[in-house]
Amino acid sequence: MGGCLKCFGSDSKEDPKKEPIIDKEDSKTNTTSDSITQRKSSAAAPVQITLEDFQIEKVLGKGAFGKVFLVTKKDNGQVYAMKALRKEMIEKRNQVVHTKTEREILGSIDCPFIVQLRFAFQTPDKLYMIMDFINGGELFFHLRRSTSFTEERAKFYAAEILLALDYLHTQGIIYRDLKPENILLDAEGHVKLTDFGLSKQFFGAENQKAFSFCGTPEYLAPEILKGTGHDKAVDFWSLGALIYEMLAGAPPFYSRNREQMFRNMLSKPVEMKPHFSPAACDILKSLLQVDPRRRLSNANEVKTHQFFEGIDWGKLWKKTIEAPFIPKVKGPRDLQNFDKMFTEEKAEESLIVTHLNAEQKAANRYDGFTYKDPSHL
Ligand code: ATP
Ligand code: MG
Repeated sequence: MGGCLKCFGSDSKEDPKKEPIIDKEDSKTNTTSDSITQRKSSAAAPVQITLEDFQIEKVLGKGAFGKVFLVTKKDNGQVYAMKALRKEMIEKRNQVVHTKTEREILGSIDCPFIVQLRFAFQTPDKLYMIMDFINGGELFFHLRRSTSFTEERAKFYAAEILLALDYLHTQGIIYRDLKPENILLDAEGHVKLTDFGLSKQFFGAENQKAFSFCGTPEYLAPEILKGTGHDKAVDFWSLGALIYEMLAGAPPFYSRNREQMFRNMLSKPVEMKPHFSPAACDILKSLLQVDPRRRLSNANEVKTHQFFEGIDWGKLWKKTIEAPFIPKVKGPRDLQNFDKMFTEEKAEESLIVTHLNAEQKAANRYDGFTYKDPSHL
């Protein structure tokens, strides 16, 4: 990642992606790598999948610790997205727990609006997660192309995201990195949440709080900024920021000066645009409440808000409501919905496959990372 944030000004197509800020990991409620594998005993079955089983095709995206590639499984020709992370980078930035949590969460959930993990494995220096390839592209890509969405279109995406967040919250998971860059569209135009690199899972007692300073500046909830402890209410703040950006074409409180943006967020009322409907203004005001105790952060109350009037939540969950926009996709390997900046890059990954030796196994901090989806293939 790296680089500075640019202004959402005159030429929004030039806008860079929003980058997460990652600080210390939570020390009070860390999970262990065994906590989820114990719940899914079938996931612990021995697997022998390695990098050699995949043909690397293209780069889809890049992150702080590695890259996401389009890959083909050699034995059956099926395409996947492969997230490759460098252990050295993860350790340098103290992200071991977050990375293990990402793999654990992805391996434990089953939701129509969340990307599905199929395999995970590791080498001495890298971690690999193989997911379904979602070929409609990032919501970010489509939003920058259209500048903003109609309320009907924004309502549809927000409603599917709300179902994904509600699903996660009922599993004790807070997502913490909601933004258009982490929301993909499938070939039918439905959303799929990806990137659980900043998520947090609570076990046991309710009302627990997390203390990591992490998220993406434009979408960061005030209580994360203040460091007073946070819970699932942060995802409702980000949902408000997402609805705002879909309708306005830029995030709320935006300033090219990050400090100023944070001051705006804490002290200024959110600026409503003249074309926002009264229902949109009301839900934005309710979600973008600085005080989390006053924020609309109960999924059922959000569902019954006037902004979502007309949504049949049962049908939405079953994906029987047609999406307002169908991405152009010519085939399973078609990359027209991905940024050329990545897809035109040379896609290479060290083909020397090294396995962990006994000594490395003993010292390995990623024990339990290997995974195979028991319901796949
Ligand atoms: P981190 O924030 O942990 O550094 P990241 O932002 O680098 O992670 P992701 O958000 O998981 O990593 O992936 C980067 C990009 O790769 C995504 O924004 C998306 O464009 C693409 N991508 C990720 N997963 C998939 C997928 N399953 N199908 C298609 N594209 C994907
Ligand atoms: Mg991401």
